[in-house]
Amino acid sequence: MTLTQPSRTGARVERLPLARFTTLGVGGEAEVWFVSDHDQLAEAMEAPYRILGGGSNLVIADEGVPERVIRLTGPFAETDLTPDPGLSDGETVVTGWVGGGVPLPGLIRRLQKLGLSNLEGTVGIPAQVGGAVWMNAGTRYGETFDGLHTLEIVTPGSRRQVTPDDLDWGYRASGIPRNHIVARVRLKLRRSTPEEVQARMEFADSARKGQPKMKTPGCAFKNPGGVSAGRLIDEAGLKGTRVGNAMIAPEHANFIVNLGGANSADVHALLGIIRERVGVPLELEYELWPEEG
Ligand SMILES: Cc1cc2nc3c(=O)[nH]c(=O)nc-3n(C[C@H](O)[C@H](O)[C@H](O)COP(=O)(O)OP(=O)(O)OC[C@H]3O[C@@H](n4cnc5c(N)ncnc54)[C@H](O)[C@@H]3O)c2cc1C
Repeated sequence: MTLTQPSRTGARVERLPLARFTTLGVGGEAEVWFVSDHDQLAEAMEAPYRILGGGSNLVIADEGVPERVIRLTGPFAETDLTPDPGLSDGETVVTGWVGGGVPLPGLIRRLQKLGLSNLEGTVGIPAQVGGAVWMNAGTRYGETFDGLHTLEIVTPGSRRQVTPDDLDWGYRASGIPRNHIVARVRLKLRRSTPEEVQARMEFADSARKGQPKMKTPGCAFKNPGGVSAGRLIDEAGLKGTRVGNAMIAPEHANFIVNLGGANSADVHALLGIIRERVGVPLELEYELWPEEG
């Protein structure tokens, strides 16, 4: 690990293995920019960059990536759930700003304790708020856009506030172009009770019972034409198949897990085996850094 330098605006800049920022635990080095205010964010965006959230939908190459990798920290990872008196009423709460770098699971737990509903359907998604917003992460019990009031989006040279109505969002898509950074959001929540929110969370979470507990970037492939990709991979007899230290999870065939010390070549080899053995074209669910081809 080499400390490069504090940047002109004071951002911490370090060359670090990206494996430590991903749920799969795989990924080589890059120059990581830890930004905690808008000046630092603007400076980080002066050269080619990527924005990294919870790293829960990524397979990053062992060679790392050549671009700067931005991490939202400080106030961009803080949560202000104070109701805005002008926009909240007996039924609805519009909060202060919640940073794009806030871990979603902790936010969901805080909302449950306050009895604030709308986002509990996203329970169990190990994203950061910005990453969850960017792809409108969700489950059949609810999605991130169920609880958004305002989004602050930053691009090189611009910062603007938009509402969901300004965006062409839909199933697992926000309509926000790649590398437009969701710096912070304000939430729109329904007043409920901690007990009711807890019950809805438990119901949504029960669907995850069969998922592996090991390091993973989530589901590998989208369901082709409504057919379960996991079932197709299972029917091809691939559960438990291992390459190096990566394995197709015995619990659920659409998950690749890191047994410890896996590298991206192991994961790519498994993805290749699945594509070859399952008779239908499969589209990747997670993102590859750098992109394929
Ligand atoms: C165990 C497990 C279970 C999962 N279950 C679900 C599920 O039920 N439903 C579901 O939808 N997903 C699920 N996922 C996938 C993943 O959590 C989601 O895709 C999530 O939205 C990724 O968010 P992230 O912050 O981890 O983003 P990353 O993985 O860090 O990045 C993914 C993409 O988002 C972009 N991004 C990240 N932060 C920002 C930002 N602040 N502004 C703009 N773009 C940004 C990145 O540049 C990248 O393009 C699961 C993953 C795991 C590991």
